[in-house]
Amino acid sequence: MTTPSPSRSGADRCPGLLTPFVSADGAMVRLRIPGGRVDASTLYAISSLAGRFGDPEVTLTSRGSLQLRGLPDPLPRELITAIDDLRLVPSGPHDKARNIVADPHAGLDPLVTALDEGLLGDPGLAELPGRFLLAVTSPGGPVLAEPWDVAIVASPRSDVTSRHPRGPSGPAARTSATVHVVADGRAVTVPRDEAAETALDVARSFLAARPDTRTWNLRDLPEAARADLLPGSLPFDVVAGDPPAPGPVGADLVALVPLGLLTPAMVEGLQGSAADGIAPQPEGSGQRLAVTPWRSIVVPGAAARAEELATAGFVTAPDSPWTVLTACAGAPACARTTTPTRDLARAAAPLIDPAGSPVHVIGCERACGHPARPHTIALNPRTAADVVAAQLEKA
Ligand code: SF4
Repeated sequence: MTTPSPSRSGADRCPGLLTPFVSADGAMVRLRIPGGRVDASTLYAISSLAGRFGDPEVTLTSRGSLQLRGLPDPLPRELITAIDDLRLVPSGPHDKARNIVADPHAGLDPLVTALDEGLLGDPGLAELPGRFLLAVTSPGGPVLAEPWDVAIVASPRSDVTSRHPRGPSGPAARTSATVHVVADGRAVTVPRDEAAETALDVARSFLAARPDTRTWNLRDLPEAARADLLPGSLPFDVVAGDPPAPGPVGADLVALVPLGLLTPAMVEGLQGSAADGIAPQPEGSGQRLAVTPWRSIVVPGAAARAEELATAGFVTAPDSPWTVLTACAGAPACARTTTPTRDLARAAAPLIDPAGSPVHVIGCERACGHPARPHTIALNPRTAADVVAAQLEKA
């Protein structure tokens, strides 16, 4: 995830909306979308706000969230109200803690919802660090490769009402009445309807056990404290699959967003993905989309529109350099570097091997937004050739 400069705005603060970070290119607001689930009409509204108040490109983060950048500081009241109206930040105190990544399968939606509701319903959990990550995934799901702290591992339910219940994980697996809650390489098996509360109990135990507020993740706890997090647990073998490649999966489409920058043209291109379109609808009434931690959007029912969405700017085939090429925000957005990381990545893209090692272009050692899977880094490259050379290094 892009890390902004540490200064915080003194901007006007509205209940329910987090204070923006301020970076070199203006204020930035993170919109944490639990599990990446977002209504298409809401995404359209977010894109419209971005174009109206700041950088027109909405940034997809490595946690499946969205960022609005280049905003005025302080934030205009009209923007604050509009974001509040979208109900994407329903609880100011909890917003930082609302980090849930999930496999995009629609059959996992009820678990994502239960986890988010449980999180928001407990005032004590507002203390969770912004880096504490909760995951919801199917067995062997690619989310398991992300740096999560607590995971619910469950077969997707097959009885979830969805226009496209098959989702990008293929046909819905046979549903099990029990699921695994996993932390620190150990798991307990619990009834499905107790999974969210069990996972949140681990989060509560983490808060009780951490020695100071700079202990951000469960893995940073002393070993003795970690042993008590999941009473009755057994060793659990965490095996992660690969992120879904761009392209059709059944009736759906995995649409990759190069550099995680969702342009207005791309959002316009998503119109018509739903049979009834997205722009004219009130927020919250449109088609369910899934923003993934791999900077793609799973668009239900859009397999036949791959070419059209590629014209809009998405990558919809697996043989693209953007499947292995990522970059931090870099200059001029980030004051920590003078390296225009995104421009260099764009220049290098035609020369990058889509079958080669993932390469992440960064302007400093913070390595913001780096992929969880093995990759090489291009640190402060001067030219596109430097990026290409970095890909050839051993990951
Ligand atoms: S230069 Fe890149 S890696 Fe460094 S802080 Fe800025 S965005 Fe993050």
